[in-house]
Amino acid sequence: MNIGIVGLGLIGGSIALDLRSRGLNILGVSSRQQTCDRAQERGVVSEASINLSLMAAADLVFICTPLGAIESIVQKLIPHLSPDTILTDVGSVKTPIVQAVSDLWPNFVGGHPMAGTTESGIEAAVRDLFVGRPYVVTPTAETPEAAVEKVEEIARLLGAKVYRCGPQEHDRAVAWISHLPLMASATLVAACDREGDRDIVNLAQHLASSGFRDTSRVGGGNPELGVMVAKYNREQLLRSLSIYRDTLDQFISDIETENWQALEQKLKLTQQARDNYNL
Ligand code: NAP
Repeated sequence: MNIGIVGLGLIGGSIALDLRSRGLNILGVSSRQQTCDRAQERGVVSEASINLSLMAAADLVFICTPLGAIESIVQKLIPHLSPDTILTDVGSVKTPIVQAVSDLWPNFVGGHPMAGTTESGIEAAVRDLFVGRPYVVTPTAETPEAAVEKVEEIARLLGAKVYRCGPQEHDRAVAWISHLPLMASATLVAACDREGDRDIVNLAQHLASSGFRDTSRVGGGNPELGVMVAKYNREQLLRSLSIYRDTLDQFISDIETENWQALEQKLKLTQQARDNYNL
């Protein structure tokens, strides 16, 4: 089976590495020749090109570019595809992508592997990134079932745990567990940087340890991805941020009024609630 990957970065390169190691033939397209050369040097792909015509031989194509490029790439890709080619993407937001691309190519299955690192580009591609992690597929009522099952089969080959839901449900859920944490983590670092005394900032930077590493990690990732997520999932992100701000105000109020009992009660509930998440 020939698998096409368009966008040889962190996610595309990591999918390519794993599927190639499972014996599949991987054809890769990326926008820069330098990336294609490096992908071949690293053994990420069997063949690589900056020309989308390479995808003519693919049975299933993963679009792994930044969100803003997906629709226009599909438009340019279509003339090269045979009619039964399955298209899927890995974009972190689903509703606008699924709406736009399904109109262009009915054999399209929206997808989102829930794994990443703070790095980007072909050098960031790693093996086993998706093992044990959720891989969400977001078909609509019109998506062909055979195409959905094929994408799920490939996701299982990556070692991922497959979930199905609608694109809107996906965007609402990931606003809570992915997009809100990204903004909360970024604003945490931004707030620390607003400390006026540079000596204190300097000391804090030296004293930072595991707690700060864990809470700041997702805010220190690829800025382009953060902007794209905010732009494409704006409504759901704003809703979750607004509830987050309200929750933060309740915590502030407990501390201002020295209501330690109320604060402890909230922290007991969050300690219990955290166990319900797939961590
Ligand atoms: P990335 O590391 O920056 O990779 C994207 C790659 O796409 C770049 O390396 C770039 O390679 C290539 N590219 C850009 N424009 C292109 C074009 N017009 N045609 C062909 N290739 C193009 O980003 P990423 O983190 O892998 O994210 C890719 C997608 O995965 C995004 O849609 C994102 O929402 C989704 N995602 C990300 C994460 C995460 O945590 N990072 C997790 C799940 C899903 P060149 O060097 O050739 O320009």
